[in-house]
Amino acid sequence: MDIVKACVSCHHPLTAPTLDLGDLPLCNRFTDRNAVTPTHKLSVSDCPSCGLVQAVEVAPVDAIVPRLPWIRYNEPEGHLDKVAQTLMLRSDRNTPKTALGVGPFDEPLLARLQNLGCEVERLNLIGDAAPGVGGVGYPYLETMQARLRPEFIGQATSSLADIVVCRYLIEHSHEPVASLAALTQLLEPNGVLLIEVPDSEKFLRALDYCFLWEEHISYFVERTAKALAAQAGLRVERFHRFEGQLEDALVLILRRGEVEPLGTASPEDREVFKRYRTSFASRREAYRSRVASLAAKGKVALIGMGHQSIMFLSALGLHPYISLFVDDSPQKQGLRVPGTTTAIIPSADIVGRSDISACLLAISPRAEITVRAKLKPLSKKGTEILPIYAGIEGKKRLLEAL
Ligand SMILES: [Zn+2]
Repeated sequence: MDIVKACVSCHHPLTAPTLDLGDLPLCNRFTDRNAVTPTHKLSVSDCPSCGLVQAVEVAPVDAIVPRLPWIRYNEPEGHLDKVAQTLMLRSDRNTPKTALGVGPFDEPLLARLQNLGCEVERLNLIGDAAPGVGGVGYPYLETMQARLRPEFIGQATSSLADIVVCRYLIEHSHEPVASLAALTQLLEPNGVLLIEVPDSEKFLRALDYCFLWEEHISYFVERTAKALAAQAGLRVERFHRFEGQLEDALVLILRRGEVEPLGTASPEDREVFKRYRTSFASRREAYRSRVASLAAKGKVALIGMGHQSIMFLSALGLHPYISLFVDDSPQKQGLRVPGTTTAIIPSADIVGRSDISACLLAISPRAEITVRAKLKPLSKKGTEILPIYAGIEGKKRLLEAL
């Protein structure tokens, strides 16, 4: 008998239908030999009560621990001057004096707070774990989230801060309410907690499946991020949305205090994920037939081998049609793409070829101008350059959004 899991936010049983992506290779599992890549089930559902979209079946933490030391991710920073100023100019008279960060994406915000006169401290959640948990790998976000719990924090430090920051970690947490409780433990009585998470609204509406990822447990939108704070007994003092082309950044400034009662998600709230779930099979077919038609005219190259690219390849089953995998990061050269026996090559290896019908761009919009410039010799020869993202605007893309 299947055990019904509970919502990671409100703990209501997850009884709604799931979107099953099947057995997928781990997106961070690059290897230098033709070894069999381990696969894990990935399925996603939404909570019938609070509406949070979340992973139901996901790879265990030990499996996700990177096996390579350079697996590191980037998160947006352009809005952090404004965030730092907002934190320092609080409405009460107590100017914050101390700030504490817990993860790798807090550093750029801590540096700005320091410039504004704050004394900053970092809590290293994996200091004694790196490198190698159980002798395997290089612990990163998956291990940090597992240690962001009241028990661990209670042992790790007794220092408190006026501002505690935690960017891009809560969506990785298997127990986000406990993670917020752990962060709250670090607050001075009148302190504020800043959390920042990616907003899933745009990719869910655009029916973009490459944004799913085995390392993300929660796929927040504004309403469910606020509901999570309430579950942890935190009041939303301020909320900011910072626009991104493919996903916005949600910044919540939270404080202990009276919490507004939560309403359950309305049918309209839940419609977005329902459409995403029920459209998967037809969208996958549409992608397969589109990429197959490009492959019939020549070779198809996938440009940029990050987790979105690998999810695009695996979840949509596009392996039969894509034969060239391109990434210019020096560390990735020659390594096999997770789930394939094909090695990654640099863009210099494809620009002279005349048998490439399409280059599928799986790169951040920030990098697009540079990458398009590198691929210019190909586009001059008629190779189509097509972003994979369904939600990207103002450009010819692989498949039109519905
Ligand atoms: Zn829930």
